[in-house]
Amino acid sequence: MNFKAILAILLCKLLRAVSRLLHRGGTAMPGRFALKVCPDLLARLSKDVKTVVITGTNGKTTSARIVEQAFREQGFDYFANRSGANLLDGVTTEFVMNCTLGGKMKKSRAVIECDEAAAVKVFPQLRPQIVVVTNLFRDQLDRYGEVTHTLGNIRTALEAVPEATVCVNADCSLCSSLALSLPNRVVYFGIEQGAVPSRAKPELSDATHCIRCKTEYEYDYITYGHLGGFRCPKCGYARRGADYAVTDVIEQRANGTTAAVSIRGEKRVVEINLPALYNVYNAIGALAASMEAGVGREEAVRALASFQCGFGRMEAFRLGKADVRMMLVKNPAGCNQVIDYLENLHNRFVLAIFLNDRGADGTDISWIWDAEFERLNALAGRIEKVIVSGDRAQDMRVRLKYAGVEDKNITVERDYETLVTSLEGLETDVCLMPTYTAMLELRSVMIRHCGGAEFWE
Ligand SMILES: [Zn+2]
Repeated sequence: MNFKAILAILLCKLLRAVSRLLHRGGTAMPGRFALKVCPDLLARLSKDVKTVVITGTNGKTTSARIVEQAFREQGFDYFANRSGANLLDGVTTEFVMNCTLGGKMKKSRAVIECDEAAAVKVFPQLRPQIVVVTNLFRDQLDRYGEVTHTLGNIRTALEAVPEATVCVNADCSLCSSLALSLPNRVVYFGIEQGAVPSRAKPELSDATHCIRCKTEYEYDYITYGHLGGFRCPKCGYARRGADYAVTDVIEQRANGTTAAVSIRGEKRVVEINLPALYNVYNAIGALAASMEAGVGREEAVRALASFQCGFGRMEAFRLGKADVRMMLVKNPAGCNQVIDYLENLHNRFVLAIFLNDRGADGTDISWIWDAEFERLNALAGRIEKVIVSGDRAQDMRVRLKYAGVEDKNITVERDYETLVTSLEGLETDVCLMPTYTAMLELRSVMIRHCGGAEFWE
């Protein structure tokens, strides 16, 4: 390390410590200053670190957490950018926080989530071992742009790192087109025909026409969005068979999935500790990445079942300017885990708790008295306000009052539509804690407000 690099590391660590003391998020800012001092700092630090990078529109965080779990199962020593700082500056901060003052990395591996637009800057410095491209969808940011522009960014980024193995979603005609022009080794993951009932036609398709010749795709089957068995009748560009394939989604439950998979030709039945089809994609993509990174088959499979999304599950939405996370609560242990999570947040946030007592929630709501809501008092400085909702909103309000939350800071709002609308104007983070039946209702309102796009991050 030269003098500039050492200075940049020192500065970054100092700024990070100060921003922590001031309870400011600040994972991006320290890296930004460090890069001003030493523009190639990340390249210097990551030189001997084997990195799995996950990019794509949806599922980055979930995929990264599964890869992490596989690394743990394998006993790999690694670090990850869990804070969600997924641009060049944030990733740089993460590396600095895992190196000595002399610039020596403390871990030999990393699991890094990377924003699609930032890939062009991050990849050439990071020189990843494995890159996962989860999928490409049009999201809010792309509304006036083209999803193909994002694809172009990723292609340019990958051109700079021809030695990286790329795991692409075989079912996404946009992602898998990367293989048409790149020199990289490409590994495919996906869901095979017949694994799930096919949809009649692509819904809200972001890729109706062939990326090569603009002819309309024909589909053998569709899983969701534009994902599935696409083929171009004119030029022959078509879905490739997946190396890591889901061959049958055997059972989908509220909290998990059982699926048959084919891992490089070997059949297995796996348990995935997450609901919903888009997480089946995250799981098979993460399985591919983990094994390509050197994790054993048994360890990688075990990770799908043992994986916890940090603290159970967590769904993320972008609502106006607010980052919203929805965290199902149904018992004291789970609720306390959510409070653990809240304690680790850096930003100010609005907390909304939705308490129902219908069949699927458990009709006995006395559990709220066993959950440690008293711990919210220590967070008072960061909680903007607390909203209570659901059939038993008043019970929840009483519980919070006993916990020491000031009544003037508690708002009761039973109407989900009004509640979600009121959140839209916020610039703080929002944490939603619904019980099960409340989550189902709330989720449909949220998805409507978010323009029909679903995220599981
Ligand atoms: Zn074509």
